[in-house]
Amino acid sequence: MSQEYDLVILGGGTGGYVAAIRASQLGLKTAIVEKGKLGGTCLHKGCIPSKALLRSAEVYATAKHSEDFGVITSEVSYNFGKVQDRKNKIIDTLHKGVQHLMKQGKIDVYEGLGRILGPSIFSPMPGTISVEMNNGEENEMLIPKNVVVATGSRPRTLPGLDIDGEFVLTSDEALELETLPASIIIVGGGVIGIEWASMLSDFGVEVTVIEYADRIIPTEDHEISREMQRLMKKKGIKLVTGAKVLPETLVKGEGVTISAEVKAGLKEFKAEKLLVSVGRQANVGGIGLENTEIQVEKGFIVTNKFYQTKESHIYAIGDVIGGLQLAHVASHEGIIAVEHIAGKDPSVLDYNLVSRCIYSNPEVSSVGITEEQASDKGHKVKVGKFSFRAIGKALVFGESDGFVKIVADEETNDILGVHMIGPHVTDMITEAGLAMVLDATPWEIAHTIHPHPTLSEAIGEAALAVDGRAIHS
Ligand code: FAD
Repeated sequence: MSQEYDLVILGGGTGGYVAAIRASQLGLKTAIVEKGKLGGTCLHKGCIPSKALLRSAEVYATAKHSEDFGVITSEVSYNFGKVQDRKNKIIDTLHKGVQHLMKQGKIDVYEGLGRILGPSIFSPMPGTISVEMNNGEENEMLIPKNVVVATGSRPRTLPGLDIDGEFVLTSDEALELETLPASIIIVGGGVIGIEWASMLSDFGVEVTVIEYADRIIPTEDHEISREMQRLMKKKGIKLVTGAKVLPETLVKGEGVTISAEVKAGLKEFKAEKLLVSVGRQANVGGIGLENTEIQVEKGFIVTNKFYQTKESHIYAIGDVIGGLQLAHVASHEGIIAVEHIAGKDPSVLDYNLVSRCIYSNPEVSSVGITEEQASDKGHKVKVGKFSFRAIGKALVFGESDGFVKIVADEETNDILGVHMIGPHVTDMITEAGLAMVLDATPWEIAHTIHPHPTLSEAIGEAALAVDGRAIHS
């Protein structure tokens, strides 16, 4: 069967399904091809399930210390099956929501594996999509005027470190665990590794993180990394940095043992399971790119600022193009691509103004550049910092670790970056993002009234601190 469309989107993850909704709003006849489930990695294997588990872990950890709040409980325990049921229910609710949005937008959803064909009887240009239907029915042939490739990414592993789903896991398998191990080695101390370390540790698992760089969350500001390192250690997490894991030393049996090269030589680590979190690779294979002129560099599809590939009617967005592999980036790129297809003149995305969040306990969030990057770029830097220890609401919450740090240019007063670690900072970073979008100065942030008592007072005080005017320091 063949069908004509204005737009066919390959992949129904956050990037793909949001692009489809925008396309339908703009009056484009649109179809999505999804081989798995609408919602993609974010909904089924990423943002949502990991945050649901993190929340259960946080509730458990807080309940264990309920006496600090004057609340007396009997012995606190958890039922991991119920933790998983809760996670699955949240996914299910949101999945139904996305399915409903597709129906509402009259977007055709083809459940199957899509592949781009070269020039054919259907079209003189590459871009016809053949769909091998999941239900075994005859292949569908979709003939679009435009295509958006949004095939996402999958976990990367280290060469020689095979994922067996029993001893050696990625986040995909870890999310499906029926019971938690007593101990785990996490290879990689980036965003995903630290979220897992924090959550498993809060559930009482003995966690060792092995990181190749000389600090965990190495893309964050140095001071944020250092504070995170201190707080993870305070939880009892073992952190081994500047360490190169040697996959060939992996032995599986009762559990796993693996060695890493550390400063002092070779060091052996033992645990029940090993989680590999060393980044994600783009899904560029098996989707027919060889039938097109589309360029792939370092494993990612190359596009221009409107996300057009070398084939100007084929766009690519989200994790498959690399850069910041985040759900809110994928969806924003999708909207820009579709508006461009519809002949609008969308504003391009300024990646420097994208907020980045880590949902560990405590949380981390940032926007703009770090203090080191600012100095490297030649800015004369001034910094304002304010600790949550002096914030009433943080004390009320019983979560007063961490701080807000604002990096500004001494001469122009421009805000160059805002970095936070502490309670609920992922919900507070958008104020900083908005300030940067509007080119606000630290003075303007400070002049904005931050209600008392709120955690956001730390942002107001940090803004005052840039000019040495913080009140409560
Ligand atoms: P995906 O969501 O990966 O969607 C791609 C879709 O394409 C998939 O559904 C796939 O089945 C489908 N597909 C692939 N090939 C084909 C084909 N040939 N035919 C048909 N369909 C195909 N980001 C955040 O912003 N916040 C977070 O808190 C966060 N937490 C994360 C936690 C974890 C553990 C992980 C792994 C990721 C997390 N991310 C988070 C990243 C986020 O999930 C991704 O950036 C986002 O999902 C990218 O969206 P996408 O649409 O590009 O790709």
